[in-house]
Amino acid sequence: MPIIYTIPEIRKYVKAWKEEGLSIGFVPTMGFLHEGHKSLIERAVKENDRVIVSDFVNPTQFGPKEDLKTYPRDLDRDSQLCEQAGASLLFCPSPEEMYSEDYTTYVNMEQLSEELCGKSRPNHFRGVCTVVTKLFHIVTPHCAYFGKKDAQQLAIIQRMVRDLNFDIKIVGCPIIREEDGLAKSSRNTYLNPHERKAALVLSQALNLGKQHLLQGETSSNVLIDAMTRQIEQEPLAKIDYINIVDASSMQLIETVNRPVLCAMAVYIGKTRLIDNFFWPE
Ligand code: AMP
Repeated sequence: MPIIYTIPEIRKYVKAWKEEGLSIGFVPTMGFLHEGHKSLIERAVKENDRVIVSDFVNPTQFGPKEDLKTYPRDLDRDSQLCEQAGASLLFCPSPEEMYSEDYTTYVNMEQLSEELCGKSRPNHFRGVCTVVTKLFHIVTPHCAYFGKKDAQQLAIIQRMVRDLNFDIKIVGCPIIREEDGLAKSSRNTYLNPHERKAALVLSQALNLGKQHLLQGETSSNVLIDAMTRQIEQEPLAKIDYINIVDASSMQLIETVNRPVLCAMAVYIGKTRLIDNFFWPE
């Protein structure tokens, strides 16, 4: 499986495939791939003739105090995983290949990026929308695959594709978890053994929220309070946010009387982890 570093080179592959009438699936990632990414690639392989995976730690979506410099990387392992999953090629551009020194154009989404991660990470979704737009123009896929692990990102990309008329089908894929319930994430590698245990509190709190919903609770405040109390029992955990938003507009709601997203970001030690569920599931 080829690893491609430049935009002109990947365009050659895409052009040749399109001339043969082949369909192209695309899985954008930041690398350090795990079973979550693999599930996206395998789904793309099932549904397309060729699959391109991108591996790019996008600097414009990191804040100045975030983990851009320490974000884990392992291109050899990533390329093995891609090959095993059936990908056709791995696109791995440098920051300089993607952003010229005098780069000035950004894609900004209003409303959907105001709450949740958008609130705690200013400019994060501006960076995401910008890089995904660029990657979509470079790869020109028929379908692109995103995980529900990053639920707000998925909603934003779906809206962006609609608003900006990209001719690309966006496919949302289920969250892949460790056996004990922790959502798989490249950032789990930052956790020491104590923190790894403590990190279980995210999925446990979400399950508690689900139980209350199943029992008929519809007040966002009551649900959020119950999940907050559960997380506060874990000394290594510090809540960034727990919120319930409309599943489409990503705006806060008081009563669960329509499809919603319940999402949280929690620091375990210095590591910020996110998890969520859509309701109804
Ligand atoms: P990242 O490399 O973290 O930017 O993620 C790349 C893509 O993989 C995004 O669409 C994520 O939502 C998705 N992803 C990451 N972790 C998981 C997971 N545990 N389950 C499903 N999809 C995931």
